[in-house]
Amino acid sequence: MDAGRVVIVGGGAIGSAVAAFLRRIEPGREVVVIERDPTYREASSALSASSIRRQFSQPVNMAIGAYGYAFLKEAHRHLAVDGELPEIGLRDGGYLFLAPPAAEPAMRAVHALQRAEGVQVALLEPDALRARFPWLSTEGIALGSLGLAEEGWFDGYGLLQAFRKRAIADGARFLHGEATGFVRDGERVSAVELGDGSTIPCGALVIASGPWSGQVGLLLDIDIPVRGRRRSVFVLDTPEPLEPCPLLIDPSGFWLRPEGRYYLSGMSPLAGEPDPDDLPLEVDHDSFEERLWPALAERIPSLERLKVASSWAGYYEMNTVDHNGLVGRWPGFANLYAATGFSGHGIQQAPAVGRGLAELIVHGGYRSLDLSDLSPVRLAENRPLVEQAVI
Ligand SMILES: Cc1cc2nc3c(=O)[nH]c(=O)nc-3n(C[C@H](O)[C@H](O)[C@H](O)COP(=O)(O)OP(=O)(O)OC[C@H]3O[C@@H](n4cnc5c(N)ncnc54)[C@H](O)[C@@H]3O)c2cc1C
Repeated sequence: MDAGRVVIVGGGAIGSAVAAFLRRIEPGREVVVIERDPTYREASSALSASSIRRQFSQPVNMAIGAYGYAFLKEAHRHLAVDGELPEIGLRDGGYLFLAPPAAEPAMRAVHALQRAEGVQVALLEPDALRARFPWLSTEGIALGSLGLAEEGWFDGYGLLQAFRKRAIADGARFLHGEATGFVRDGERVSAVELGDGSTIPCGALVIASGPWSGQVGLLLDIDIPVRGRRRSVFVLDTPEPLEPCPLLIDPSGFWLRPEGRYYLSGMSPLAGEPDPDDLPLEVDHDSFEERLWPALAERIPSLERLKVASSWAGYYEMNTVDHNGLVGRWPGFANLYAATGFSGHGIQQAPAVGRGLAELIVHGGYRSLDLSDLSPVRLAENRPLVEQAVI
């Protein structure tokens, strides 16, 4: 049965989703997931802000958003095990992207594309923004783009656990171990070597190793352009609730969304700013004081009086070429697949990517949703798939 055995390196949301869909699509297929840390202490899926949207600039990402949202709405149907319902906690809430005057033409162009793709989204000028969100300062803002449906936030760790439980209930095996090497036989990877000296033969190999995918690629002598880029998340307490509150994306680079009675917020470096690889997972408190808080208070004056209730740091698994997922067969290999590089929008893509990659492995092509735009072939052919709406 080794010829058909699929081995997945990494049991985060993506690897677990691929495993669950493989077993669902082909119940007889042997599936082994290798995960070195079953507590998921540093896994992105456990440290995510776990939000989902349709507002992207690439049609494939817009379609994945619709698929993911519909899946999460019906998660109880897809992921219940023995009557136990998954704890996904999906909350509806639109994203609100704000654009300064220089970015207005680009926002209008993306809006036209989104509408053509069926995304329910509205453009709001400053007066309309202030009327709808009285707590917002529109200083320096020309336009806002507000999602009207199929956007929100959820419990990403809950989704990871639900996929994992579903996969195990359907017969996938999760092994606690670290992939430290591979046996290569021409265009095929024939086995995975584990840190304890054991070897697992495989018929197909999936790299779903999140921010460590570049390092796993090196073990196969391939350059997977994925690096761990640290992002800090701050849990904010504020005496004056922001109501109503969408998931706000500011031109300064910050994002903010509600989480119960609190708000989550973080900030990515702007284009051209340093963004080193693999920093230790320590919260960057200096950047909060120097950049994030001032930017928050400028856009939302009441946040001058905020308190930080807690904070954490996690890695984006950043595709340094074009900030989009790398999903599909790796060029030059017959049985090596990647599902990585989602660059800050991977947890929402887990359902579509899990299903799609399982279809590709079992059927040799996509059946539900065509993910071929995300194929890693684009790297070899120098055809980047640039996503403008990366947060
Ligand atoms: C702060 C933050 C905010 C985010 N916000 C959002 C958001 O709002 N919306 C969104 O969609 N996405 C968001 N993301 C991104 C999202 O969380 C990730 O894209 C997604 O979780 C990636 O899942 P994964 O399974 O690929 O990686 P991970 O969850 O990191 O799983 C990879 C697993 O591989 C294992 N592994 C690695 N190497 C090996 C090896 N050699 N052998 C065995 N196991 C190995 C690791 O232990 C790990 O458990 C955010 C991420 C962060 C950090």
